[in-house]
Amino acid sequence: MTEFTSPLRAPAPAAPATAVELAEQVVHLARLVHGNAREDGLTPAQWTALRYFARANRFSRTPSAFSEFHATTRGTASQTVKSLVALGLLERRPNEQDGRSALFEVTPAGHARLAEDPLGALGTLIDTLPAEDRRALATALSRLTGGMSRLRAAPIFGNCVDCGHCDTSLDGPAYCRCTQSLLAESEMRALCADFAPANLSAPR
Ligand code: SF4
Repeated sequence: MTEFTSPLRAPAPAAPATAVELAEQVVHLARLVHGNAREDGLTPAQWTALRYFARANRFSRTPSAFSEFHATTRGTASQTVKSLVALGLLERRPNEQDGRSALFEVTPAGHARLAEDPLGALGTLIDTLPAEDRRALATALSRLTGGMSRLRAAPIFGNCVDCGHCDTSLDGPAYCRCTQSLLAESEMRALCADFAPANLSAPR
């Protein structure tokens, strides 16, 4: 009988990989996510935008916030958003907080498309990791993302749970001191462009 071998149980390397080798593996892994994209599929940038608008909170569903998240120019981000609107996967809505800008929402067709997200395959593989490995991966990725954001002077995206602007000291819903808004429970884990890591901001 052939023994099943998990794709995540490759033999340990003889010597630890160097930092550069690990960096190359991270980039290669990211490329593999879209390696078998269908001919009629979305581009990696369109997938990133669709995921972003599905996960971003009501203060961050704008092309400019997406441009910062994707580390690209506002013009390029706007073109990507426009292409998703043309495909019927995003729709433009008035921004009630700021009449000069618009918010973009994922349409039902966009949510249906996200069910085919090629990133899901990587998520499934991560799910097979032991809990201890997942925790270590989460810690390492968080440190690396934060470090690269500081090196590139790029904003760090996060959610209310870890944000220094979030005040949970009062009875009832949490309060965002940055946007001066009450936060619904369902918003607490959404991506936010105004996020400030709790340890770098005002104490809660
Ligand atoms: S508390 Fe922080 S993460 Fe939450 S909405 Fe306010 S700025 Fe954004």
